[in-house]
Amino acid sequence: MINKQKTFLFVFAHPDDETSSSGGTITKLSKDGHSVYVCTATRGELGTLGTGTLKISRKELPKVREKELTGALNLFGAHPAILLGYKDQELQLIPEKTLIKDISKIIHSINPNFIITFGPSGISGHSDHIAISRSTTAAFKAYLKINTTCKLFYVAISKEASISFNLKLTELEMNPNVIIDISKQFQTKLKALKNYRSQEDAQFLAKMFEQNQMTTETFVLWNRNNNTRISDSF
Ligand SMILES: [Zn+2]
Repeated sequence: MINKQKTFLFVFAHPDDETSSSGGTITKLSKDGHSVYVCTATRGELGTLGTGTLKISRKELPKVREKELTGALNLFGAHPAILLGYKDQELQLIPEKTLIKDISKIIHSINPNFIITFGPSGISGHSDHIAISRSTTAAFKAYLKINTTCKLFYVAISKEASISFNLKLTELEMNPNVIIDISKQFQTKLKALKNYRSQEDAQFLAKMFEQNQMTTETFVLWNRNNNTRISDSF
């Protein structure tokens, strides 16, 4: 992939967002010797309370999800999670300035070459995903003034897949220009998703990824214009 060691910062809203959208890529980058950080805004405290025989109380859930996140990042070989400590489904209620300030602080302490987050639709349309996309983009734009080479990418999904999964994405998010082959990291991604035993969504996605053998993860440069050629790497 890349010869020189680079620093990547992934910014998401809930524990498991990183795995479902980018787990294979995070693993691949880490194994290739890059430095990979994941910043997660909430502990997903409003998520489901267990799957199968596992039953968790609402009070215990944040701790459980944090542990699941730690386990996933360990498995991927990434740095320990950076948690912002906000509450699930409350990101849109926080003044955007505050969220931007928090994310900026992390960007400045890590100095990433690449930042990856959700695009404007948040893929699922979740208000937390949309808020994290907006704030990360604003923090990135401010950071560009001191690091002109930093690049921002959004999670993207091909038009075909977006239509078949009935996702309401922006045009940009349906036109990936980075396609990462994660076939060698696929089992690791599935394992990490299944390890999110508290979450029904994670189990559902693991099944869907497995059934459809979804062995690529795709991203798009935030200001891509349609003439940019497809590249196969960050
Ligand atoms: Zn989420």
